[in-house]
Amino acid sequence: MLDLPRKDPAVADFSSLDKYPSIPQKTTGSNTVAEIDGMTNNERRFSSNALTVIVEPRDNLAVIFQREGISAKELQSVLESDRLAQRLKHIYPGQKLFFERQEDGTLMRLIYSPVPLESLVFVRRGSSFEVTEIAHQPEIQIKVMHGLIDHSLFVASQRIGLDDETTMRLAQIFQWDIDFVLDIRKGDEFDIVVEELHLNGDFVGYGNILAAKFVNQSDGYLAIRYVDRDGAAGYFNPTGESMKKAFLRAPLEFTRISSNFNMKRVHPLWNRTMPHRGIDYVAPVGTPVLAAGTGQVRVAGYTKANGNYVVIGHGTEFETKYLHLSKFGPGTKQGRKVTQGEVIGFVGSTGWATGPHLHYEFLVNGNHRNPRTVPLPKSNPINKAELERFRSHMQPTLALLASGKSPGLTTAATN
Ligand SMILES: [Zn+2]
Repeated sequence: MLDLPRKDPAVADFSSLDKYPSIPQKTTGSNTVAEIDGMTNNERRFSSNALTVIVEPRDNLAVIFQREGISAKELQSVLESDRLAQRLKHIYPGQKLFFERQEDGTLMRLIYSPVPLESLVFVRRGSSFEVTEIAHQPEIQIKVMHGLIDHSLFVASQRIGLDDETTMRLAQIFQWDIDFVLDIRKGDEFDIVVEELHLNGDFVGYGNILAAKFVNQSDGYLAIRYVDRDGAAGYFNPTGESMKKAFLRAPLEFTRISSNFNMKRVHPLWNRTMPHRGIDYVAPVGTPVLAAGTGQVRVAGYTKANGNYVVIGHGTEFETKYLHLSKFGPGTKQGRKVTQGEVIGFVGSTGWATGPHLHYEFLVNGNHRNPRTVPLPKSNPINKAELERFRSHMQPTLALLASGKSPGLTTAATN
């Protein structure tokens, strides 16, 4: 079998189910209907009073309890049972609640699944309830997909069935090499090997991205996920260098909104009116601006021209500047350390700006340079002791990527 890493989950601890004999052992899924179906004979005494409720719009727990004829006192004791019970206050439409009652109506058990892979089980213990949090182990299918960009990365991803969250994670893998805000073009394409998670036969979401290839304006980048012997996961290119580098390509949070914004306006007007020493990112007011690299805040201030602006020093050689911010990030104070990717402010149009945008400058030894073309520090290679293991892991994953074919079911137990 492939040596593909599993999702790093809080693995379901079904040993805890032994304490609750009324939960069928075979039910490793959160699907409450299946749990009812899976009941053994000696549990049938409750089954006539078992009920699955689907949360409706404008429902809250009190409304549901009242509708089902369960007393306010019982609701109170559920809510007071444990800190975890607070999560019952945030139920939303479409989620399921499973109730189990005694003949006299006393609530014995309540199961709530906030997300498909997780359930909270409340079991009566005298006058109170004991709560267990259960993570369900999904079945994993490895999928190989191909996307071709015409309008935007998000549109291309949606067309092949990827959700926005997975698309964001795909972009984040390459965020040190590709400027997803400005540089994505029609004709760019990607291949992705991703875990598809299933529970009781239902698709419940995507897991880890195991490998991906992205072609941006004819430049190809390849990344393989690798979990080292210590359990630390990261993405590496085929020669074993980390995809992470000293500076992010775009110091701006890549979102569906900012990406659509830039697709519409590839050439900002103010780029041409004056000698320009930076890169302009047109983006909606409030888009998070990120520290391009780890460093120290040299300035977090205001001038008439710059508006609210931040200067970060990265060692003695490099400096980055971020202008026209609507406001600063919570930790952005002069002298403070910031880490790469930390939010240092938000896009605005303060100072001399004709519209909301981020003006970004990159300096090397005090001189303005183009961060796209300037030689930058090399990224860290994989630990020598891990290299052999990485290579043997990489081969089947790359073969899968190149094949373009999904291999089908890989059980969660495969490692
Ligand atoms: Zn500018």
